[in-house]
Amino acid sequence: MEFDQINKTAVTDPAKRPNLEDYASIRANFDWWRDAFEKMDWLAGGGLNNAYEAVDRHVAHGHGDKLAMIWLGKNGEEERYTYAEFKHESDRFGAVMQNLGIGLGDRVFIFMDRLPELYIAAMGILKAGGVIAPLFSAFGPDPVRDRMLDAGAKYLVTSPDLRAKISEMLPDIKTLKNVIIVNKDGRSDDPPVEGDLDYYELMSAADPDSFTMAETTQYDFAIMHYTSGSTGKPKGVLHRHQAVIQQWITGHWALDFKFDDVYFCTADPGWVTGTSYGMMAPWTNGVTQIIYEGGFSASGWYKVIQDYDVTVWYTAPTAVRLLMRAGGDVVDQYDMSSLRFIGSVGEPLNPEAVVWGNRHFNMPIHDNWWQTETGAIMCANYPSMAVRPGSMGRPFPGITMGVLDDQFNEMAPGSAGSLAVRPGWPSMMYTYWQQDEMYNSRFKKGWYITGDQASIDEDGYFWFQGRADDVINTAGHLVGPFEVESALIEHEAVAEAGVIGKPDPIAMEVVKAFVTLNPGHEAGPQLRRELMRFARDRLSAGVAPREIDFIDIMPKTRSGKIMRRLLKARELGLPEGDTSTLEDD
Ligand code: ATP
Ligand code: MG
Repeated sequence: MEFDQINKTAVTDPAKRPNLEDYASIRANFDWWRDAFEKMDWLAGGGLNNAYEAVDRHVAHGHGDKLAMIWLGKNGEEERYTYAEFKHESDRFGAVMQNLGIGLGDRVFIFMDRLPELYIAAMGILKAGGVIAPLFSAFGPDPVRDRMLDAGAKYLVTSPDLRAKISEMLPDIKTLKNVIIVNKDGRSDDPPVEGDLDYYELMSAADPDSFTMAETTQYDFAIMHYTSGSTGKPKGVLHRHQAVIQQWITGHWALDFKFDDVYFCTADPGWVTGTSYGMMAPWTNGVTQIIYEGGFSASGWYKVIQDYDVTVWYTAPTAVRLLMRAGGDVVDQYDMSSLRFIGSVGEPLNPEAVVWGNRHFNMPIHDNWWQTETGAIMCANYPSMAVRPGSMGRPFPGITMGVLDDQFNEMAPGSAGSLAVRPGWPSMMYTYWQQDEMYNSRFKKGWYITGDQASIDEDGYFWFQGRADDVINTAGHLVGPFEVESALIEHEAVAEAGVIGKPDPIAMEVVKAFVTLNPGHEAGPQLRRELMRFARDRLSAGVAPREIDFIDIMPKTRSGKIMRRLLKARELGLPEGDTSTLEDD
């Protein structure tokens, strides 16, 4: 590896100095109430509404003319919305919701591509007191049906093509009152389904000026997200308006948002990153957000960064690995000089990726860690802090994290164990929807158990080892798949690697790797031998894979995470379990 640590040089331009300049002193003096809760406006009657804080607050403070979003449609369209326009439109949709009887706690599903109307509807639902439940537009009928049934959906906001995809299952959702159709720019010529409601007609009939925001409190439910399904059936995680407090301040310190930033988040709102950091964090910080309707495209993304002078970019390891696969020379064809900060979440970020980023963007990619359940960033590499490639950084001010042994007692630095957090952070989930027992089982001896394994180094940096379910027990050693995967992808032929423990009569489990290759490399016994040797040189003999298989497609969730449980089930010929979130393209 090229670097053990990437140091930061002091920033001289005052406008670009990191918001969190001195981690240690800010952490030592941090107070949630004074430093975060009090920074929001709150509602006149003492309530809290996350959409108000994200949108209306800026208008109330005289920034209505500032751009909130620039939408880049998949057919080359562009639309711009100021905060004032965003407020107006979302008030209108709030009125639509109220006219349709949506009130506190009602679940409204949004099943749509990334259109401006998705964001307007989301903010309108929240202002009306409803709960948004966003879904990946790539979902087929079954995952949509399961989630709408589970959550008791009252309305569905969708587009004609997506409605057609799931039409047959809609009658199963007995709680569903109606479907609201967004036929953006008449993209669909199909006649509307009888009985459906038309978004634009509802909007023109509603009066935004007479809209009164619901009197939500910080304890009211706001967002429901199903987890990614990496380890099993996705769980419905319920979040409250209060989460916005932490989403705002993590945006400020962990993503370093400044008021003039142009921000690009590549996560889909079907995944929690797409709402916490694709809606709440950026807009509460008043930045201009790029909404890119298209999917992954190395040159498409670089062009957006170049043409719109993107300053902060938040993405995921899966995307970074695809960018690496596309090649550094593609980056070098674009002007990336506007970028000030790059962040990543969702999976461990391989050290190789951090270093690659440093080479091509002149800054490391900053890994940070959190989960659907935590609602916001918990541990991060901050712009002011040296980056240790492979580490997820240090806990956010106000957050206490620990590594526990099997008895749930805290361990000294250096040993790997169960990653846990002291409960009580503002964006903590309220519960798993209708699974209180599972929720309760996550708390032990005053800790919230994350389900991940990690260790802490002497300087308080956290190192992810693997999910508890994925850790491999081979000949008495516990091996985290991440370490093996990261070593393999350092080889020029390897694009991605997924590592599992394969049952073995002697060693209990042996390490088995599945790899996909970069263009121009040939699978075969010779490359397999070379990769084995390569891994053995980097890892101890007990940790290096005993078997390597070449595969064409790495099974991943819609949020881009490697599904090791599927690699394992396929290897062992076992049932695949819940595959509702499996990416199919
Ligand atoms: P499920 O809970 O349904 O199995 P999931 O855990 O992948 O799916 P998410 O809530 O989207 O669902 O993901 C959170 C998990 O992602 C974390 O618990 C961790 O395992 C992984 N993760 C997120 N960020 C990082 C990171 N920076 N480094 C390592 N792992 C990460
Ligand atoms: Mg999880």
